[in-house]
Amino acid sequence: MTISSNGTALVTGASTGIGAVYADRLARRGYDLILVARNRERLNTLAKRLTDDTGRTVQVEAADLSNKADVRRIEAVLQTDASITLLVNNAGVGATAPLLQADADKMDDMIELNVSALTRLTYAAVPGFVQRGGGTIINIASIVGIRPEILNGVYGATKAYVLGFSQSLVHELADKNIRVQAVCPGAIATEFWPIAGTPVENFPPEIVMSADDLVDAALAGLDQGELVTIPSLPDAGVWEAYESARQNFTLENLSRRVPAPRYHVAAKQAG
Ligand code: NAP
Repeated sequence: MTISSNGTALVTGASTGIGAVYADRLARRGYDLILVARNRERLNTLAKRLTDDTGRTVQVEAADLSNKADVRRIEAVLQTDASITLLVNNAGVGATAPLLQADADKMDDMIELNVSALTRLTYAAVPGFVQRGGGTIINIASIVGIRPEILNGVYGATKAYVLGFSQSLVHELADKNIRVQAVCPGAIATEFWPIAGTPVENFPPEIVMSADDLVDAALAGLDQGELVTIPSLPDAGVWEAYESARQNFTLENLSRRVPAPRYHVAAKQAG
């Protein structure tokens, strides 16, 4: 049976891991697909399997999203293909080396992919979504966006960016019928770990989730209207308490003419 189309989902980092599972689940939910990653052969194999299994149309775009020219090519796809209704910003790399052992060029490449490409692709997609009356953006962040101390700090900071950028998008696009979800996975069993520098087998199995379970939970979170989905977190109230503490940082509290009394600046000036 062919489900009626939900439009087209563009998924970055779709050749393996979390992105490949998103491609599978979204095809089964009735989306045609545009799959983006560097490895064309893997993308073609996945595209054929998904077309055979679901009857959906699957287009492949081989691109290196740490390369500006390739990013511009995918931006152009997002700007011109009016069938696109969903963007999954998933492509990303991590690192487990601490600062003193980390290579600055590699950190820069990571920022290019995890932050700059994600930002540019979002900017390319949003105007069309606004013009067509809606759309959805799923940004794959990480739990280290909330706890950057857990892994390499630059990686954590790129994911804090993804989380903060997503929260600002929710706010900025509130009246435009655009859904934004930030997903914060814990450790997921994918090729991410050997590439980042630590085999996933080094972790206790209790803290490692499969990519299948992660994506199924994240899509359930999307269906439930969550803006931030932390699939491992047993008690959603812990996030709600954190978020409500963050909201207590009102502008009146954060921006004032005089420094807070504990810095004794006003007292010094008066004296
Ligand atoms: P993965 O299995 O290594 O997959 C990464 C995907 O990104 C692959 O399809 C890869 O394909 C693509 N990619 C890597 N560099 C690229 C580039 N320069 N240009 C275009 N595509 C590129 O890792 P994953 O675990 O699925 O990670 C997906 C996302 O989840 C990442 O953003 C990661 O930070 C996040 N995440 C992962 C974990 C985890 O524990 N695994 C936890 C939290 C968050 P090609 O090699 O073919 O380009």
